Amino acid sequence: MADIQVGVLSCSGEEYLGGTLARMAVRKVMEEMRPGKVVTLCLPLYIAGGEEERNFAKDYPVISVDGCGKYCAKNATLRFSGVVRDTINIADIVGEDTVLSEVVSMRDIKEEHYLMVNRIADEICQKVDVILTE
Ligand code: SF4
Repeated sequence: MADIQVGVLSCSGEEYLGGTLARMAVRKVMEEMRPGKVVTLCLPLYIAGGEEERNFAKDYPVISVDGCGKYCAKNATLRFSGVVRDTINIADIVGEDTVLSEVVSMRDIKEEHYLMVNRIADEICQKVDVILTE
């Protein structure tokens, strides 16, 4: 694979389960599935940040991972950096009703949620690998 890194930017939703699943999946990809190949930054810093953060999508091909169809991560990337390479709305993977369900405390994360995280992480990895092999 090419010696490049891919930016994966998760939305920061705390209100919906979708945001939690998105963040967990991005972390799993970074730490376990594609270590060293994926970089990220937190969405609030990106929105509040200066030039360095705004250049994120200029420095890395970015995949946005959103917890619902409001596409906060995608829209922030487009607004501040102008380009997004690929997008994921995890409602397309685990269902709209699931992502819009009330937030689940980290204490109450169950096996079913970890299985969803695995599916989302697999989808992210597929998109990362496409970019790395281009
Ligand atoms: S994309 Fe949806 S879940 Fe994520 S921060 Fe925006 S409204 Fe919240």
